[in-house]
Amino acid sequence: MTLTTTYLFPPPPVASVPVRGLSAHFPVQRLFFVGRNYHAHAVEMGRPVDKSKSRPFYFTKSATTLLPSGATAAYPPGTADYQHEMELVVAIGAPGFRVSEQDVSRLIYGYACGLDMTRRDLQLTAREQGRPWDLGKDFEQSSVISEIVQASGAPLARGAIDLRVNGQVRQQADLSQLIWSVAEILADLSSYYHLLPGDLIYTGTPDGVSAVLPGDRLEGHIEGVGGIELSIGASDSAS
Ligand code: MN
Repeated sequence: MTLTTTYLFPPPPVASVPVRGLSAHFPVQRLFFVGRNYHAHAVEMGRPVDKSKSRPFYFTKSATTLLPSGATAAYPPGTADYQHEMELVVAIGAPGFRVSEQDVSRLIYGYACGLDMTRRDLQLTAREQGRPWDLGKDFEQSSVISEIVQASGAPLARGAIDLRVNGQVRQQADLSQLIWSVAEILADLSSYYHLLPGDLIYTGTPDGVSAVLPGDRLEGHIEGVGGIELSIGASDSAS
């Protein structure tokens, strides 16, 4: 009996993200996304949030959807409304379950800039029909991420966040406008999941989401974290 597992074909590579100043990459476990976490975006989506009566909600994507900053994403199939969502990403570096808001700092490895690319037409159709969002959210190349910047101390609570398309500002806000803060999100999410090193949490997008087309260039920035870039390529043709 052999102790070494053999595979029928090569297993998929480990998804990972570069870390500023280090040669070692951050190996990725899971991708969590917070829905409707800025008031103005919740309103533009037709679903205002009353924090006193609700809790945050989440969706997930496969780690195979990750795409590094600077890449070109093929215009995805099945949509006529492919949109950008600029987001702060929290990188988890230590395990945590049922963590209090006061204690979340020990879970945080660092931060990155993220783009939660969305097939908005498919997402909204699913929403109206009470179906899962996967076709609108969890598709190839839909989770763009910059390098991770290490952080310590209190969770990031303020700083400008913006996104430009072809040099024109489309999204502009401040992290202090998050409905649920980084501390509140980590405490809440850790009441549902055992958070693990390698988890990435996209914290939600400000208002100003809009459609992009082949040839567009996206440039995002978060004060104190860094920048992210994405080019939109031609439609993915059959091959
Ligand atoms: Mn999002």
